[in-house]
Amino acid sequence: PAEPELEALQHADVAALLPLPAAESDKYRRGVVGIAAGSARYPGAAVLAVSGALRGGAGAVRYVGPAGQAVVARFPETLVSDQGPHKAGRVQAWVVGPGAGDDAATVAEVLDTDVPVLIDADGLRLADRAAVRARSAPTLMTPHAGEAAALLGVAREEVEGARLSSVRELAARYRATVLLKGSTTLVADPDGGPVRVNPTGTPWLATAGSGDVLSGLAGSLLAAGLRARDAGSVAAYLHGLAGRFAADGAPLGAHDVAETIPEAWRDVR
Ligand code: AMP
Ligand code: MG
Repeated sequence: PAEPELEALQHADVAALLPLPAAESDKYRRGVVGIAAGSARYPGAAVLAVSGALRGGAGAVRYVGPAGQAVVARFPETLVSDQGPHKAGRVQAWVVGPGAGDDAATVAEVLDTDVPVLIDADGLRLADRAAVRARSAPTLMTPHAGEAAALLGVAREEVEGARLSSVRELAARYRATVLLKGSTTLVADPDGGPVRVNPTGTPWLATAGSGDVLSGLAGSLLAAGLRARDAGSVAAYLHGLAGRFAADGAPLGAHDVAETIPEAWRDVR
């Protein structure tokens, strides 16, 4: 029989994948996630990415970039550095791009590391495809339909009308795991196999900053040791559930989604 094209992530699968601390865990063994995001123009994207990362299961969140003051004011537990990614200290996975503006040098520096990297938002536009393909560690890209269309050089409507083939094509072109966001979120691996579909979510998540929270959350799961495909799909599942709980039939802000991630986590466990 032919292999199924799609696979829905189940509650029990997510529960089994959640990175829980062992009795003897320390913060370094739980994983350190690095967030290279934000700019003078978009400091809030850095704050939101950090907020998602803090609820993702890594032992520590490191931030590099120009929004350190805003990040620490909101989340004092963040380790903030004004040096570039290479000088930031040990990091088990990087998130690069949310609100990054035109900082191509930082994106290139992050791609040059030998740990898993999540690329989102402005980072998707700034990342060199050959550099992504040449990476020695896994890469997870998280475009929405507009960003996916720009990467493929087609109109947004073309991606909307062919989401499954678009996400597969991107994964093959970039040799990366690709999470295509939207009303249904799809996750495709570069080596093919069934594409994962996220069953959670709510249209209330269609709000500014929502994707920044997702990127931090998924990055934290990467740092905790999940494979790119699992980190992406577990993050989408928790984010969708948190969105539903936070909204409960009424509008929400992206920071509400981040604050409700623990509730989603408890529901899954
Ligand atoms: P971004 O566009 O980067 O802010 O990301 C938006 C986030 O909200 C992604 O996680 C999307 O999957 C989610 N989202 C956007 N629109 C919808 C929708 N209509 N239904 C469910 N989730 C959505
Ligand atoms: Mg976004």
